[in-house]
Amino acid sequence: MYRFYINKVKNINPFAELIRVFLDDDAFETIAIDWNDADSLQLTDNSYLLNGEHASDQDELKRKLYHLLVELTGKTSKWGTLTGVRPLKPLYQLYLDNGRDIEKAASAMAERYLISDDKLNMLQEILQYQVKHVNGTASDRVSIYVGIPFCPSRCSYCAFAADVAPSHDVVRKYLNLLLEEVRYVGAHLPETPVESLYFGGGTPTSLKPEELGLLIDTVCASFHIDLNEIECTVEAGRPDTINHKTLSMLRDRGVRRISVNPQSLKDRTMELIGRHHTAEQTIQAIRLAHEFGFEVINSDVIAGLPEESLDDFRHTLDTLIGLKVQNITVHTLSVKRGSRLREADPEYYRRYGALVTDMLDHAAGTLRANGYHPYYIYRQKHQIGALENIGWCLDRTHSLYNIRTMEDKQTILGLGAGAIGKLYFPAEDRIERVANIANYTVYMDRFDEILERKKEYFGGKHGY
Ligand code: SF4
Repeated sequence: MYRFYINKVKNINPFAELIRVFLDDDAFETIAIDWNDADSLQLTDNSYLLNGEHASDQDELKRKLYHLLVELTGKTSKWGTLTGVRPLKPLYQLYLDNGRDIEKAASAMAERYLISDDKLNMLQEILQYQVKHVNGTASDRVSIYVGIPFCPSRCSYCAFAADVAPSHDVVRKYLNLLLEEVRYVGAHLPETPVESLYFGGGTPTSLKPEELGLLIDTVCASFHIDLNEIECTVEAGRPDTINHKTLSMLRDRGVRRISVNPQSLKDRTMELIGRHHTAEQTIQAIRLAHEFGFEVINSDVIAGLPEESLDDFRHTLDTLIGLKVQNITVHTLSVKRGSRLREADPEYYRRYGALVTDMLDHAAGTLRANGYHPYYIYRQKHQIGALENIGWCLDRTHSLYNIRTMEDKQTILGLGAGAIGKLYFPAEDRIERVANIANYTVYMDRFDEILERKKEYFGGKHGY
């Protein structure tokens, strides 16, 4: 067991996160101390002191820790000392601090975080795309996320609170409460224009078309939204929930972006991860969505799924490119606590680092060669190889909603079970998270409490 004593640091979590990139959870301990003479600490074998008193800032201390971890384990990390979900944020800040000079920002970033050249180049490319095509932040507008926590089956890697609904009565009860929350927030939000709208989950298209239609209509009426004017995405993740009636209902309402998420186009993988559809069903669903004329079809794929080879991953990607989906979001498998895969194989995500790195490199090369641009990026905990997720788009078909959620410069209203909203306070450049209860049964049981909490924010103590 390694012990890391961390002296005079307010928050040791980023240090623990960095150690976790190199060592298993049960192989180390981080101990926060606040001593004036920490150098006199008697260190036993495998114990180390990181003394904040001797570092100019936290980044310097993290660099010391990084070098120590490389020495101890013989491993390196392409992301250097950078942990956290939003790797583009520090580059954007450095870009502003350096008079919008991207080269200077990139070299400051490399020096501060010890990032590899390929990750830095990727970040630069994404920043340049956003600077060119997104036209700044939009803190004077809000985006809305609406969560439907039901799926046709539960994937083995799923750590969301989504699940199969026990009966349609439960779905109806949930929907009625969600409609009440939508109306309440719509009635209390000051006249703030909505920039983008996102129906996620779970699988929103697991609702009956008339139910999902009612939900969309209620959101639009409550927030004065014209879907012909803003970006609206509906996740239709599972092809077994996609049919003529649902697609026609979405198109009639003006939805222009949908997400059909195969994750892989290998039938055996579908079985292994607990899905009840075939690759062919996904292909047919994408073709059908094209026939209905959706402007943007996004498809999520995952690198690192059980038993998948580089060839399997290549086949999935080539097929999606051939199907001309405008957005492809390449995820690295994240094996979080609470997922069946993590319970069955706690070390799964540590074993496939090299293979997944090859998959991501292959994806970047192939997507670029086929005209796709990387436009947003985020990282998650417990991802294989501590890598990342990247959204790629053809032409200018990027999703504004995805960019806004990563910028942290806009209020996002989260409605429904599991929705994580955030309030943005521009004067302080600060985000405050407002998480709804994740579990849908608890959401239904404690709905009054949720509305009370919303009252605090809308017109209450925050005067929002
Ligand atoms: S489709 Fe997504 S939300 Fe639904 S079970 Fe699978 S991973 Fe979870």
